[in-house]
Amino acid sequence: MPEIRLEGVAKYYKVETRKHMAVRDIDLKIQQGEFVFLIGSSGAGKSTILKLLGGMIPPDEGTAYLDNISMSRFFGPWQYRLRRTFGCVWQEPWLIRKSTVYENLFLTARSGGMKNKHINAAIAKSLGLVGIQEMAKRYPAELSKGECRRVELARALICSPSVLLLDELTADWDDDNIWDAMHLLDELNRRGTTIVMSTHASKYVNIMRRRVVTLVDGKIAGDVPNGRYGDISRGGRNGTGGFLRR
Ligand code: ADP
Repeated sequence: MPEIRLEGVAKYYKVETRKHMAVRDIDLKIQQGEFVFLIGSSGAGKSTILKLLGGMIPPDEGTAYLDNISMSRFFGPWQYRLRRTFGCVWQEPWLIRKSTVYENLFLTARSGGMKNKHINAAIAKSLGLVGIQEMAKRYPAELSKGECRRVELARALICSPSVLLLDELTADWDDDNIWDAMHLLDELNRRGTTIVMSTHASKYVNIMRRRVVTLVDGKIAGDVPNGRYGDISRGGRNGTGGFLRR
């Protein structure tokens, strides 16, 4: 059961000749089975934290651990371990445009090590979970942005990962779609899947009352169990709120 930990982590991006700090002084432990909302303004560092948690990018300072093993050790064939552990939806579209929905999911299942004989059932199941079974034969260009996000979620779910990392999953959805997704994520979480999702959907954060980690200017400003959007007191009980509250 994976535990993910960022210890003293900083990440810089090179912009022309300068180093731009994206996140710094990040100490964050996420245990198996947690449901964590990552919130903050645009540019606060949410995507960077998700990519660090999933071992997609290496930290420039500090260490990212998966089960107490530095993720820097998961290179070459060991990357397989990361692929099996994490199901991800990133802000940038990852679907292959010239392949159908079915083919996109097939490739993900194969690269996750699934045997051919199980793949059709897994594709049907994951498309069913996100409510788009009938779209298997379509190409991404024939889908709306919101439908593409559903396909990406199906793709993230197909290998039954232990951890879901979701970056602005709900950005292109209306209230009904967000409700459906939150129900699905809640159910998956109750069955043991760890969920870390960045979102601006304050209404749903406030209804769900899960752990809320707030980023401000690349640093953790709040980490509140059973929190609400805008709670910023670290650790302990619910925060004083006010900041970012909607
Ligand atoms: P958020 O997800 O909260 O919007 P990001 O993690 O995407 O924040 O970005 C954090 C900071 O890092 C921002 O200032 C952003 O401009 C910068 N940044 C992110 N990715 C890159 C990149 N590839 N190159 C340069 N700067 C980047």
